[in-house]
Amino acid sequence: MTSPRLAPGATAFLDRDGTINESAPEGEYIVSPAEVRLLPGAAAAIAALERLPARVVVVTNQRGIALGRMSEEDLAAVNARLLELLEAEGASLDAILHCPHEKGACDCRKPGPGMFERAEREVPGARIEGGAMIGDSVLDVEAGNRLGLTTVRLGESAPGDPAPTHQAPDLRAAVSWLLDPAAA
Ligand SMILES: [Mg+2]
Ligand SMILES: [Zn+2]
Repeated sequence: MTSPRLAPGATAFLDRDGTINESAPEGEYIVSPAEVRLLPGAAAAIAALERLPARVVVVTNQRGIALGRMSEEDLAAVNARLLELLEAEGASLDAILHCPHEKGACDCRKPGPGMFERAEREVPGARIEGGAMIGDSVLDVEAGNRLGLTTVRLGESAPGDPAPTHQAPDLRAAVSWLLDPAAA
């Protein structure tokens, strides 16, 4: 028997919008709990990661805070709702880390490494080495590739985008690929 592509004890870093929950339309932000809708299969996929066991850490760019579209309190309420919906389906998260900054103003906005490094410092058991990054944006792939993570891009890549380790239609398929060595 061969081992899973993500080893027990490793950390799965997940993007939030478009990966776990439905994205807001282009250029908009999820600013209230009522807008949080889980994507199909997302909770079950996260629960499968937890059973590995993996740490599951969300790393999310939330520039809407810098733009004044929402406050830190709004974001906290959105994240609380996300957790509530996940927990209702038997899944949980070790942490949700966010970057509230404008582009070019910090080292934590993906593709920067700041949120990943913060996870290593602040989330018990979380580590970059041997981990994976799953997300629907080119920024997720870029961030993960720079740190040597296994990267899974959800949905389509555009021409010229950096290549992820693997491409998958959704979080469920991404997690199956990470956990099942027989998965294509
Ligand atoms: Mg996204
Ligand atoms: Zn930042």
